[in-house]
Amino acid sequence: MATVNTVLGPIAPADLGITLMHEHILYGYPGWDGDRTIAPVNRKEIVANGVATLKQLKDEYGLNSYVDATPLDGGRMPEILKEVSEKSGVNIICSTGYYYEEEGSPTYWKFRGSLGDITEELYELFMTEVSKGIMDTGIKAGVLKVGSSKGEITDYEKLMFQTAARVSKETGVPIISHTQEGTMGPQQAELLIGAGANPKQIQIGHMSDNLDMQYQEDTFKHGVYVSWDRMGLQGLVGCPMDEQRYPVMIELIKKGYANQMMISHDCIISWLGRPLNLPEAALPLIANWHPSHLFKNIIPELKKGGVTDAQIDTIIRDNPRRLFAGE
Ligand SMILES: [Zn+2]
Repeated sequence: MATVNTVLGPIAPADLGITLMHEHILYGYPGWDGDRTIAPVNRKEIVANGVATLKQLKDEYGLNSYVDATPLDGGRMPEILKEVSEKSGVNIICSTGYYYEEEGSPTYWKFRGSLGDITEELYELFMTEVSKGIMDTGIKAGVLKVGSSKGEITDYEKLMFQTAARVSKETGVPIISHTQEGTMGPQQAELLIGAGANPKQIQIGHMSDNLDMQYQEDTFKHGVYVSWDRMGLQGLVGCPMDEQRYPVMIELIKKGYANQMMISHDCIISWLGRPLNLPEAALPLIANWHPSHLFKNIIPELKKGGVTDAQIDTIIRDNPRRLFAGE
């Protein structure tokens, strides 16, 4: 029987309940750690922010589970996730895997790759993190994270996809992806399935960043799950506005795709490094970029458009369960 690796140990997919599929307790762009003299890691504050946010989601909206999509090169800290899960009572699932080449940290593996084949080394890393644990924490990763560039999947990224597919096939741990500016969704699905992954254990991410119906359907046709997981993040990093997204989501649901869709925000509760200096003009655009946006605003908007309670339950509860169960 399939199990889900949470940071507190294994649970059954049926125990996931209402799940946010792509969020971050903490995140830092590669290089953040070079600035630690000025901006040291404040573990207490990161834990407190995470616990406060997750508790609110649990108490007010019934959230049960939270997938932390922070890759190995995004400042991932499994022990902080563990503490937040213990103190909030929300299941947290930690990732293994790497971000897309341009904004990730590919130097180490590219250097090793220049000396010889790194296929087995990457496999050993991902496999160990999902089956034995991350470093000496005893915490197992519960999802494999991969990402591709705008308009292409680079050779470095391809190797990550192929390795994730191989580990997913052998372990039943699902794959979640990053797509850049609404590109390469169908190609990611093809690549992963071609490398042996079960389409029902693949979630193509950031599908909220491309509102073209053909692009959406070209991805769905591979039988994968897709995630509208940058909701509330608007007018920045290539994202459209939520007002433009709602009618497309509603149309897809009405076309019968509810059983392949998920919704999340890619929200970062604590940034590693210094606080962001956001331009004044950006503030209204991200006013709803918070993991409560789904419950406060998105679900009501979908319902106004005729989406039923049963369809919403499928999207926020049943699809995450089926992704982890491989159904
Ligand atoms: Zn993310």
